[in-house]
Amino acid sequence: MSAEIVDDIECWTAQEALGWMLKTYGQGMAIASSFGAEDVVLIDMAVKLEPGARIFTLDTGRLNQETYALMDEIREKYDIPLEVCFPDGDEVREMTEQHGFNLFYEDVELRKLCCTVRKVRPLKAKLAELDAWVCGLRREQSVTRTSIDKVERDHASGLIKVNPMADWSNSDVWDYIKANDVPYNKLHDKGFPSIGCASCTRAVGLCEDIRAGRWWWEEPEKKECGLHVDN
Ligand code: SF4
Repeated sequence: MSAEIVDDIECWTAQEALGWMLKTYGQGMAIASSFGAEDVVLIDMAVKLEPGARIFTLDTGRLNQETYALMDEIREKYDIPLEVCFPDGDEVREMTEQHGFNLFYEDVELRKLCCTVRKVRPLKAKLAELDAWVCGLRREQSVTRTSIDKVERDHASGLIKVNPMADWSNSDVWDYIKANDVPYNKLHDKGFPSIGCASCTRAVGLCEDIRAGRWWWEEPEKKECGLHVDN
């Protein structure tokens, strides 16, 4: 990808960036979705631009019932297949037998082990099929995301990664959802601005940071699961 395109994408709207990705990479590109508010916006935009756009999700086995309900709602509304990635069963069994079901509460390293087994490795396997991927990351979401670019080289996979909504505010996201009648996770109405696994996400108070409910027992600087860490 040329430096000119990289500079151009930074100035494009989310729809323009997504449209360019769909046209350039076609079926070699997929949208990663964990069915948070940003992700349903991206799905709505992508399906309107290209009904055959590929969308994948990671089912960690620990998601909320509301998230599974939303996945089915999205599939039915847009009539799209979802590509679902699961963790390796043997790895989950070994980890659970060795460290217990709730290992993530014990220390950061065990929490990262769980994220690696249930999220990072399944993602890595999926990315091996692709040339590029798209995510709903926003700079405003957390201290770990303030410097993300709209287009970047994902060093872990070597793929082009585009974050079309990097410069969106939380209000931009919800304005789009309401204006386009996009289905969203009902946990958002119960005080969950950011949604991950059920065991590692709680509702937040009005004055708390939007990612305060994710791994709430850890320091803010450590709150990434490894999916978006530029290593
Ligand atoms: Fe495991 Fe929690 Fe990470 Fe989900 S968010 S993979 S349950 S540590």
